[in-house]
Amino acid sequence: MKKLVIATGNAGKLNELQALLAEASFDIISQKTLGVSDADETGLSFVENAILKARHASAATGLPALADDSGLCVDILGGAPGIYSARYSGEGATDATNNAMLLQSLLPHRGGEPLTARFVCVLVLVRHADDPLPLICQAEWAGEILEAVRGEQGFGYDPLFLVPGEGVSSAELPRERKNEISHRAQALQALKARIQEYL
Ligand code: IMP
Repeated sequence: MKKLVIATGNAGKLNELQALLAEASFDIISQKTLGVSDADETGLSFVENAILKARHASAATGLPALADDSGLCVDILGGAPGIYSARYSGEGATDATNNAMLLQSLLPHRGGEPLTARFVCVLVLVRHADDPLPLICQAEWAGEILEAVRGEQGFGYDPLFLVPGEGVSSAELPRERKNEISHRAQALQALKARIQEYL
């Protein structure tokens, strides 16, 4: 089986990726297990940061590496919180404080057009640390930002994200449905379609 290091210490993401890649017969190892430190995320875009993370993990282990980066971009805020989604409300940010911060930032923009936004997920696979041709799978999930939180499922900004056509927030969507249509699901499907020929 081909070995592949996953550039994340996040157990949830690791599980998702393991499930997907098990079918493709890869031996998946988390960078944490191999003692790899977190990469410095100094890029200005999701794709830059995902590339930095993948190269860092591959350089430290000598193995092919897969990294991801994701977040929420709100159009009227010029794409914020974007790559800063996890720490939008500063030190010690939680999902609740991030959602409160987002509602606050959007207050001056209420009362007009719907506040359009998109979740973004980028997956990057490098065969070696200097790979000049990383496999990049980027997907977006478009929706609108609600005026108050709704729903208990999911995580992050799910309670504020109105899913078009479904009339519910992504925190009200059954988990299976989210896993069919989300930004992460779409990026994973694209990766799955190409990983065998790539590695
Ligand atoms: P990262 O990919 O771990 O850097 O996550 C970035 C942040 O984006 C998360 O902490 C969440 O706040 C947000 N985010 C990414 N994907 C989702 C999602 O599917 N639902 C809600 N929030 C998300």
